[in-house]
Amino acid sequence: MAMLHEAKNIGSSSAEKHPFDVDKIRQDFPALGLRVYGKPLVYLDNAASTQKPVSVLDEEDRCYREYYSNVHRGVHYLSQKATEAYEQARRKVQGFVGAARPEEIVFVRGTTEGINLVASTFGRGRVEAGDEVLITEMEHHSNIVPWQMLCEQTGATLRVAPIDDRGEVILEEYEKLLNERTRLAAMVYVSNALGTINPVERMIEMAHAQDVPVLVDGAQAVPHMKVDVQALDCDFFVFSGHKMFGPTGIGALYGRWDLLSAMPPYQGGGEMIRSVSFAKTEYAEPPARFEAGTPNIVGAIALGAAVDYLQGLGLEAIRQYESGLLDYATEALSAVPGVRLVGTATHRASVVSFLIEGAHPHDVGTILDREGIAVRAGHHCAQPVMDHFGVPATVRASLALYNTRQEIDRLVTGVAKVQEIFG
Ligand code: PMP
Repeated sequence: MAMLHEAKNIGSSSAEKHPFDVDKIRQDFPALGLRVYGKPLVYLDNAASTQKPVSVLDEEDRCYREYYSNVHRGVHYLSQKATEAYEQARRKVQGFVGAARPEEIVFVRGTTEGINLVASTFGRGRVEAGDEVLITEMEHHSNIVPWQMLCEQTGATLRVAPIDDRGEVILEEYEKLLNERTRLAAMVYVSNALGTINPVERMIEMAHAQDVPVLVDGAQAVPHMKVDVQALDCDFFVFSGHKMFGPTGIGALYGRWDLLSAMPPYQGGGEMIRSVSFAKTEYAEPPARFEAGTPNIVGAIALGAAVDYLQGLGLEAIRQYESGLLDYATEALSAVPGVRLVGTATHRASVVSFLIEGAHPHDVGTILDREGIAVRAGHHCAQPVMDHFGVPATVRASLALYNTRQEIDRLVTGVAKVQEIFG
């Protein structure tokens, strides 16, 4: 059978301008050589978590073997080495998102913790009964529930900007929902369920026109495109290391210095203090103020290695390569009779969410798994998005910089197999 990747050439012109040697890149990822049920793995669950390159794995290993100790505490050699590496990782993350200074980067457990931190410190200080917090209909649960909790605690109201049937925020509605009661806005940059790239610059501009500070959930943006928090002009930006080829259990919160330095602590404990007595504790300046206890030292350092890896390939080259691959996948899947795409926004990254007529997404996921193809089936922690489209779940193929057209062809063949089974 002539495979689609030979017959079609979608997106190759941009790839040619920025040569991107995907075969070579794949060699960097040991997991991509795995076989699943005797078949070569096709890993299309990158929006949930990505595989790790050797450079990240090696840095973790090297840290534990060669320069591991607790940070910020010891005067001894190893503690200083570890502290230097930890703080260097912070500077790498600062450069990665374009923050003005390293102190604007707080290491957290991931996107979820970053949002909870902002909701329970900045949010608690700012939001009162009668106020409003504005999100969108396409948020991940982690950008819904912390705001809902904040609203419950304060008597504020959560307002939700609607999306249309392509999966795009309706900007006129968004603008209308911003008013003098809005105290905070939070929005996803790239939707994990639909792949929609939101016009966040525009949305931030609208919010700022009403003096509303904005948090951007960048979890699905950072692995796929260059982010510049100063150009975006957002007030907070959060992301997770494990979705950008770094380790689990580490992520970062960017906060504008003037906001961060005025915020109360999140958790109390060691590291986050200047002085402690039973009468009074004085808190440290950020970022230490928000990093109570022993942090994920090795995680942060290995996240720095992931930043190096992405920057070595070039974020713009990655974006262009993936854009061609996404076009290819979208076209290939939408050409299959009986397949319905969920989320058809003009600007998308990484994600193709779809349904196969007559087959439950979980069955589709299970059958594809037997073919060695890892996709996700479910609500993708975005139940309101599923409600919008009137479905309980979708099948989601999510791409990363190491995926290929051959792998998309394997997915399309797998879909045909599902259809055979479900007749
Ligand atoms: N926001 C988005 C858009 C996501 O895709 C995810 C992870 N699926 C999260 C937030 C939560 O990230 P984490 O589980 O790493 O905290």
